[in-house]
Formats: sequence, structure tokens, C-alpha cells
Amino acid sequence: AQDAVFDPDAWYAGQIERTIITEEELRAKVAELGERVSADFADTTDELLLVGVFKGAVMFMADFARALTVPVKMEFMALSSYGSSTTSSGTVRILKDIDSDVAGKHILVVEDIIDSGLTLSWLLKYLEGLRPASVSVVSMLRKPGVQRVDIPVKYVGFDIPNEFVVGYGLDYAERYRELPFIGVLNPEVYQ
Ligand code: 5GP
Ligand code: MG
Ligand code: MG
Repeated sequence: AQDAVFDPDAWYAGQIERTIITEEELRAKVAELGERVSADFADTTDELLLVGVFKGAVMFMADFARALTVPVKMEFMALSSYGSSTTSSGTVRILKDIDSDVAGKHILVVEDIIDSGLTLSWLLKYLEGLRPASVSVVSMLRKPGVQRVDIPVKYVGFDIPNEFVVGYGLDYAERYRELPFIGVLNPEVYQ
């Protein structure tokens, strides 16, 4: 009930068509994912290495890391995928790589959203080439039935409809990342 501090209509009048996941629902889901992952990695002697993908996963990474009850280390990668502003092509370039040696480590990739899955599929191949002990994925959002490649995503927050969403880290043209909820962008904004 205290969530209405940020009024999207005050800032983004009419640009957000509707909210699909509220701040409260996000918070509950992050806690649930944190518990699951903590339980699964409780017996891992080596620290879990979270690999967040800039920029979209930053909000989720920050909240998720604090929902864990196991120690972690954090790395961030920046990738550029060629494509239009609302789709991706699968051709990926690393703009910022991991700083540490990940060989023998348990990696958990922290993603904002899986759409075609092309970016993630590329990233998983890259990370596996670094000889970690394991690689798994947690993604806050997934668009079902849209994946053009089969990727094993062990932890998913929400399956959402195939619409372009913004907020909680997700942008359109670098805007809307700061919204504390996830909303559907009014198509008029990008058409
Ligand atoms: P994929 O390679 O799975 O098609 O796309 C992955 C990336 O595309 C995501 O990390 C995100 O940056 C962007 N993306 C895909 N779907 C959406 C969406 O609905 N909204 C926003 N803001 N970005 C998206
Ligand atoms: Mg991403
Ligand atoms: Mg983006």
C-alpha cells in the first residue's frame, strides 16, 4: 500500500500502458527466488559467483543478492547485441568482461529478461568456455514460447506475455529503468 511513492503518470504520462507486475509482487518473487537459490547452493563449499548482465539486470541483481543467505561474489558483464531497439539478433560483443578467474567456480547468471534467448545462449557458451564448475541462470522475466534457442533456465521469476515491457531495470532508449514496477510500454512511444 506504501508503494505509490513513484507516480509514473506524473513522470511518464500515458507512456506506460499498464502495470503487469507490481513492486510488491517483485519483492515477493525476489524473496522466493533468493530462498530457492540459497537452498540449492547451501552445501556448495565454494562461493557462488553472480554474474549480472548490464544494464537491465542491475535492479534485480541488487535485490536478489540481498535476498540470498549464502555468501556470493559479484561480477558484471556488459554485452552489446546488434539488432533494433526492441529485438535482438544474437550477434554479441563483449563491452565489459568478468574481472576474475571463474575456473572451477559455480556461476549464476543474473538476467533481466529472456526474449529470443539469443543473447543468453551466446553468453552461456562463452562462460562454459571459461571452465567453471557449473553455470546456471536466474531471470526475473521470460517471454514463453518465444525462445529461438533452447536454453536451460533453472530459476524464472515471471512468465509474461509477448509485449515490450519496461521498468525495474528494463529500458526503452535508456528510459524507464528506474520504475519500481514492470509495465507495458505504450506502443505509441516506439511506433
Ligand atoms: P534476447 O536475446 O533474449 O532476445 O533479448 C535479451 C535482451 O533484450 C534483454 O536482456 C533486454 O535487454 C532486451 N529485451 C528483450 N525483451 C525486452 C522487453 O520486453 N523489454 C525491454 N525493455 N527489453 C527487452
Ligand atoms: Mg539482459
Ligand atoms: Mg535495453
